[in-house]
Amino acid sequence: MHLNLPDPMPIEVDHDQVAGWLAGEAVPRVVDVRETSELVTGILPGAHHVPLVQLPQKASQLFEKDAPVVIYCQKGIRSAEAVDWLREHGWGRCTSLRGGFEAWLQAELPVEPGTEGGNLNASDRIRYARHLTIPQVGVEGQERLLAGSVLLVGGGGLGCPAGLYLAAAGVGKITIADDDVVEASNLQRQVLYRTSEIGESKAVAAARTLKALNPGIEIEALPERVVESNVDDFVSAHDVILDGADNFNTRFLINDACVKQGVPTVHGSVYRFEGQVTVFDPAHSGPCLRCLHPVTPAEGSCASCAEAGVLGVIPGIVGTIQAAETIKLLLGIGTVLRGRLLLIDAMDASFREIEIPVRADCPHCK
Ligand SMILES: [Zn+2]
Repeated sequence: MHLNLPDPMPIEVDHDQVAGWLAGEAVPRVVDVRETSELVTGILPGAHHVPLVQLPQKASQLFEKDAPVVIYCQKGIRSAEAVDWLREHGWGRCTSLRGGFEAWLQAELPVEPGTEGGNLNASDRIRYARHLTIPQVGVEGQERLLAGSVLLVGGGGLGCPAGLYLAAAGVGKITIADDDVVEASNLQRQVLYRTSEIGESKAVAAARTLKALNPGIEIEALPERVVESNVDDFVSAHDVILDGADNFNTRFLINDACVKQGVPTVHGSVYRFEGQVTVFDPAHSGPCLRCLHPVTPAEGSCASCAEAGVLGVIPGIVGTIQAAETIKLLLGIGTVLRGRLLLIDAMDASFREIEIPVRADCPHCK
């Protein structure tokens, strides 16, 4: 019985060793002691799931005291504790899988679907592991993010942090539209760019960095200005538009195309120590940019970053909130800033919000 398994068993074993045993004739019992919510990343073939807290009570029903048993958890720490406890209580041939399930996945060894299954491959299960264990995201939500598409209008102070987090989160397609080149004065806040990239197209440099961060998603560089002739095509190809434009003309063009096509816009703006974020989503009864600004401000009437200045971290805060709202829209979870303008003031470290009603006389939302 179990002649080809070592006796005594070591306290800890490597994944290759366990894989060899599972492929052989004398197979040890394999017990997964993770929480149920962690099983969405998959389980070892033939593993029996017993959450760690239930192990002391269930161990005697599950295996004989002299049976060889491989215990694993996510990283190998909880399973090592379990093995210590089991050995103290007479189960002398228990062993812990070193590095846990993550090491197993990293080695691309076979896994079976956990409680919720899903189509994610092994490398996605590792990359997005911290999403998969969130009940509101899980495998289904991650698959939704991977199927989602976002247009970043502007690869500037807002588009940079938003782009980094959206790419890291696994949004399946990200397009960066920006006709500017990287300038030295951008580097104080536009965290996608390096000093060595001064003079390069922002869209191209941004796409390269985002692709390096997450090679599994599609990144498209559009080194073009958003204008009347292309805005409809740009908008229609995406699920959510993240507006980080540096001028009102572009913002209104985007707004009008989004309203027409029923695509939500996640709007952000910054000024010195202050920032604003909201979601324009008239397709779901929300207001639009023209409800907030019924009259188009004249070109040059609003101080730009160049004139007014901005604390570099402010677009970081605003852009990451925009990224969070974008992810919620793609997942269809939570309460987004629809009809709510979030006002951030870093000088007194305050967040407050005001309601943006749908204007009865808005030419778009009437
Ligand atoms: Zn409106």
